[in-house]
Amino acid sequence: MIRVQKEAEIAIIGAGPAGASAALNLAKLGLAQKTVVFEEHSQIGKPAHCAGHLNIKSLNKLGIKLPPKIIENKIRGARFYSPSGLSFKIERKNPVTLVVNRVLFDQMIAEKAERLGVEFYLKHKVRSFLVKDGKVSGFIVHDLDRKIDGKVYSKIVVDAEGCPAILLKKADFFYPKPESFVYGCQAEVDQIEDVRQDLVEVYLGKKFADGLFAWIIPRRNGTAKVGLATRHGSPKKALLNFIRKHPTASKKLCKSQILSLSFHPIPLGGPIPKTYASGLLVVGDAASQVKPTTGGGVITGIICAKYAAKTAFKASNLNDFSEKVLAEYQRAWTSELGFEFKVMLRLRKMLDKLSDKQIDKFFKLCIRTGVNETIERVGDIDFQGQTLLRATLNPKGLISLLYLVWTVLTGR
Ligand SMILES: Cc1cc2nc3c(=O)[nH]c(=O)nc-3n(C[C@H](O)[C@H](O)[C@H](O)COP(=O)(O)OP(=O)(O)OC[C@H]3O[C@@H](n4cnc5c(N)ncnc54)[C@H](O)[C@@H]3O)c2cc1C
Repeated sequence: MIRVQKEAEIAIIGAGPAGASAALNLAKLGLAQKTVVFEEHSQIGKPAHCAGHLNIKSLNKLGIKLPPKIIENKIRGARFYSPSGLSFKIERKNPVTLVVNRVLFDQMIAEKAERLGVEFYLKHKVRSFLVKDGKVSGFIVHDLDRKIDGKVYSKIVVDAEGCPAILLKKADFFYPKPESFVYGCQAEVDQIEDVRQDLVEVYLGKKFADGLFAWIIPRRNGTAKVGLATRHGSPKKALLNFIRKHPTASKKLCKSQILSLSFHPIPLGGPIPKTYASGLLVVGDAASQVKPTTGGGVITGIICAKYAAKTAFKASNLNDFSEKVLAEYQRAWTSELGFEFKVMLRLRKMLDKLSDKQIDKFFKLCIRTGVNETIERVGDIDFQGQTLLRATLNPKGLISLLYLVWTVLTGR
């Protein structure tokens, strides 16, 4: 039974990095009083399912300054392992990425928005959109404490529900296709051995992680995030198999205890074809605005949320929430990220086709020719498409291009 009704100009679904960033940007544009956020969980950021490996340059570009308590580690590069155990390392002089505590990271963004006046409703699960004459005019939401449904009427719904985007599918809108998903599983472990504190470790090969790759991401306190993504079978089984049986990783993790485990799908198929409709903007994982090479979606989601907020601001000023006005959002994020997503999707398709034997061959070549030094000079972790383009423009372009396939794997 519907008992409660609420009206808000802009109603956001989900307080992950994309939803909370949309709220924060709207608040900065002066729309805090007109913005509300509905989050199904009782605490923002929980349960955490992410490695929180973020590029420093991108965070700086977005003006995100992190207090020390959120930073779990500073990383200067990566060590890559082939299926047969060959390895090479790419290392920079200064830190290139941070490992962040995703719970505190998400809470920091939401708290900033809340301080500026955005209202957050926790333990409120959105059930379905309200659609009238082809226009999204709000949604039905379930109050998990009071166990009652309510209706929220809005001029714009910002859908930041994450993956698997159940609401979009239910509404028969564009949604990330399940066949593009890989299934991530991550453990927090203690007592790792023989892992440098300032390098992440990336393990390639279909035998242990057929969806993406496996990783060990060390924290300063001696614990680590160990994870992988699979396309088939149980991700938990695959992770336990990696921890116990991988010829190299199992030695580093033989004394480790698993402190916690998390699971979540990752959409790798590139952005959905249309991220707006009359009264609707879709951001973050829900729109599959995720790097197909690495599954990283925090930075790209935040960038797209910024454009969603700008578009909503414009629509609010014009008092016009039609498709025509909201189409501006798609143009804006495509102009910044469209090329990157296209290049990364191509690379993902290429990487998916490589057999473990071929990966080993690449490693041999890389090690023989000292490719890591080339990569150290030209690689840029977050904007991989531009990096590849730069590589093709220099005389050693073709070779660099081949080699840079591997650098993309650090851009999480
Ligand atoms: C194992 C793993 C490791 C990863 N590591 C990295 C990494 O190192 N770096 C990186 O950049 N990315 C990483 N990612 C990806 C990253 O976690 C996502 O891209 C990012 O969280 C997407 O943010 P979002 O706000 O779009 O969605 P989410 O973070 O999923 O947030 C969606 C929010 O919406 C809420 N919600 C959902 N449905 C409803 C509903 N019906 N009603 C109300 N609320 C709802 C959820 O509770 C959640 O809080 C990783 C992913 C996995 C699975």
